[in-house]
Amino acid sequence: MSSHTLDRFLKENLQDLKERGLYNVIDPLESPNGPVIQIDGKELINLSSNNYLGLATDDRLKKAAIEAINQYGVGAGAVRTINGTLKLHVELEEKIAEFKHTEAAIAYQSGFNCNMAAISAVMDKEDAILSDELNHASIIDGCRLSKAKIIRFQHSDMDDLRKKAKEAKESGQFKKIMVITDGVFSMDGDIAKLPDIVEIAEEFDLITYVDDAHGSGVLGNGAGTVKHFGLSDKIDFQIGTLSKAIGVVGGYVAGKKELIDWLKVRSRPFLFSTALTPADVAACIKAIDILSNSTELQDRLWGNGHYLKKGLKELGFNIGESETPITPCIIGDEVKTQQFSKRLNEEGVYAKAIVFPTVPRGTGRVRNMPTAAHTKEMLDQAIAIYEMVGKELGVIS
Ligand code: PMP
Repeated sequence: MSSHTLDRFLKENLQDLKERGLYNVIDPLESPNGPVIQIDGKELINLSSNNYLGLATDDRLKKAAIEAINQYGVGAGAVRTINGTLKLHVELEEKIAEFKHTEAAIAYQSGFNCNMAAISAVMDKEDAILSDELNHASIIDGCRLSKAKIIRFQHSDMDDLRKKAKEAKESGQFKKIMVITDGVFSMDGDIAKLPDIVEIAEEFDLITYVDDAHGSGVLGNGAGTVKHFGLSDKIDFQIGTLSKAIGVVGGYVAGKKELIDWLKVRSRPFLFSTALTPADVAACIKAIDILSNSTELQDRLWGNGHYLKKGLKELGFNIGESETPITPCIIGDEVKTQQFSKRLNEEGVYAKAIVFPTVPRGTGRVRNMPTAAHTKEMLDQAIAIYEMVGKELGVIS
């Protein structure tokens, strides 16, 4: 028999989430997560995946993964520090470091894990972290885990950051101070103001931490937001995920050799959670090789991003101020945004509604993630469906 208190807690809270429209309905795919997906027997143009370059279904990565399984099996068998480190893991970390223009890198089992691992390995209760208010949940949780004082600054507001950095420094209360930001913010597609952040960091001796989950593979010839601004030697922690543009799974920190050495002895998911599988690692190595040798996929991604934005803008939609291929279509009202996404889905476009509390109240949007794998025909079809639904719901005239 289960606990009455647990039963009551779950019943009340699930009901509450459902009433507020915050209960996640999960639609399992019957197909690979490519530019067109199948759900419940129906084909939909997919504008919701982070598979930016289409590598999640790339034959070259599949082949590398299959070969690794044949050679090493399906599991690493242990945590990295016992005997779960294959030569492949070392090769992947060397490739990441080269790709990111840093001395070294360390791989984790996911991007989420990586933020939990890296922040708490360096920061503690005698420290402070200046964190952009729109930072990803995994950064927020990593900061909390560290027990450092968390000081939020207004989104990309450099005056606010400077003011709070100055106060923190001058208080003399903290041993170390870190500034932490997403490289690309995934809800609006805007890019962090890294040159200004670096300048402020130099002035107040801040440790710099950039989570480039959405910029890696997309900006800076694929190397990410830090490279895009030419700041590879100025950022202490370059975080990335292997699950979005790279198309597989995993996360990493790239930085100075001493930092990576420290993370190898102090970060808990590295010490206590089983290593990435051989198939994952081999596929990631192949993806980085592809990205290091050609910008063809990025060029296609950016071309598709511009094409979709232009099409939606010309129809009169508010697509915000995105600086990357991420294309929000801002509807505003929460209920209408949900309704819009549902109608798109019924007509053949899979694009998720993002509403409060993920984004501020009144800024509900349907978020579109075009990828390198979409064809112009698919995007034309999606734009035509947007036009129809937009007119039907009075979002455009
Ligand atoms: N950081 C950011 C900024 C992200 O957007 C995400 C994924 N949504 C993560 C970290 C987590 O990465 P992963 O999915 O590899 O765990």
